[in-house]
Amino acid sequence: MEKLAFLGLGAMGYPMAGHLAKRFPTLVWNRTFAKALKHQEEFGSKAVPLERVAEAQVIFTCLPTTKEVGEVAEALWPHLRPGTYWVDATSGEPEGSRKLAERLLEKGVVYLDAPVSGGTIGAEKGTLTVMMGGPQEAVERVKPYLAYAAKVVHVGPVGAGHAVKAINNALLAVNLWAAGEGLVALVRQGVSAEKALEVINASSGRSNATENLIPQRVVTRAFPKTFALGLLVKDLGIAMGVLDGEKAPSPLLRLTREVYEMAKRELGSEADHVEALKLLERWGGTEIH
Ligand code: NDP
Repeated sequence: MEKLAFLGLGAMGYPMAGHLAKRFPTLVWNRTFAKALKHQEEFGSKAVPLERVAEAQVIFTCLPTTKEVGEVAEALWPHLRPGTYWVDATSGEPEGSRKLAERLLEKGVVYLDAPVSGGTIGAEKGTLTVMMGGPQEAVERVKPYLAYAAKVVHVGPVGAGHAVKAINNALLAVNLWAAGEGLVALVRQGVSAEKALEVINASSGRSNATENLIPQRVVTRAFPKTFALGLLVKDLGIAMGVLDGEKAPSPLLRLTREVYEMAKRELGSEADHVEALKLLERWGGTEIH
């Protein structure tokens, strides 16, 4: 059976690599190596030094940005073998990924951008959606190994997956913030957030923010840390790059990026993305519950 490798055992990568290791021989590497050893213990993967991941036929990455993916590719460069596929699950940047794909092709390595949606819960359950950019035959070749996915959509050439992911996350940001603004006003008026959400979630204003994020994380005051605010702001920057690259109209998404930049300045990159609503609560002098 072919050998896989997974690099980057963070909030997403750790459970994603777990699904691979349950079904295929899987090498794992992480910058903080203790996490790779813990993964080996928990899932039966094999923790290896970076150069050894080049033994795999399919290399997966799930790192913060395209910059870190480029860095590990350079570190691996002398060891890379022709015929290897590189599946990049990072929410990365389209143009940087096209350059990386060209560079890897010099070694005969085929790069696919394959970012995911579904959050840490989807990663744990193995129900992520994967949006892939790259050549059709390569997509077909790696599809059987995407054991963490419930849905795989081939959206276009290299970079297209990252573009779709960035726009998706921009929509998440809009929905979350807009719902926060509306709920602060309703709570101030004396309507409980719970009642307001009961109506909205049976009506046309509903979104993942109103159905899941706000009731489970804001109303309960739990605010678990699953997806860093700094990473969402990174995605908003990528989305603006996509819009600006096409000279597409973007007044709302531009403003959305600004408010999340502000939230990042106030709350720090490591805050969870949903904590952005704490800023609205502060301004509005009321909590959403
Ligand atoms: P985390 O911050 O939890 O994990 C980041 C991973 O990258 C860790 O394994 C970290 O290693 C590694 N890393 C960081 N910097 C470097 C570096 N310079 N060199 C090598 N490795 C490095 O992030 P997430 O798992 O949340 O996110 C990963 C990607 O997935 C991002 O692109 C994010 O936007 C995307 N994503 C996140 C979702 C979420 O809900 N969290 C949902 C969908 C996509 P170490 O352990 O040493 O710090």
